[in-house]
Amino acid sequence: MIYRFPSLETRWLQRSDKWMTQPMVAVADDYSRPGGACYYHQGEGAVLVDGREISLRDAGLIVLRADYGLPEIIETAATIAHEWRHCWQQQMGFRSDSNADILAQGLPYETKIQRYFSESKSESDALWFEWKKTHSPLSEYWVSLVSSMTSMKQPQ
Ligand SMILES: [Zn+2]
Repeated sequence: MIYRFPSLETRWLQRSDKWMTQPMVAVADDYSRPGGACYYHQGEGAVLVDGREISLRDAGLIVLRADYGLPEIIETAATIAHEWRHCWQQQMGFRSDSNADILAQGLPYETKIQRYFSESKSESDALWFEWKKTHSPLSEYWVSLVSSMTSMKQPQ
């Protein structure tokens, strides 16, 4: 089943960024990518979510994995904030340097998290943003893991 809300889930994030084209949000039962969510850029054709085609012509799309963190409202909010920040990054002209392959490797969990966020400016920025907006327990833990490394700096 697809739940599709053009802006309801992101309204709490857009107060200071009213100029943005807000992304759509979908929850997918059938989710094959590593990680718990992803953001598809506006203008990149269409995406299949649970067998339904969603056009990206007018807005980007945040897809959340139905079985990932959703029972925890705060983690869902953190995930939406994280993916929303990727939407913001795109519209600000930042290029994504995310490497999801790290998450699919057979590394220890802590190592995967540290490498995924510290080796990418767009991912570290999105992590800091989700943490700043929600202070969810998982964001807090990830920030503590990444902060223990010297390569990550908090954006201004
Ligand atoms: Zn991300």
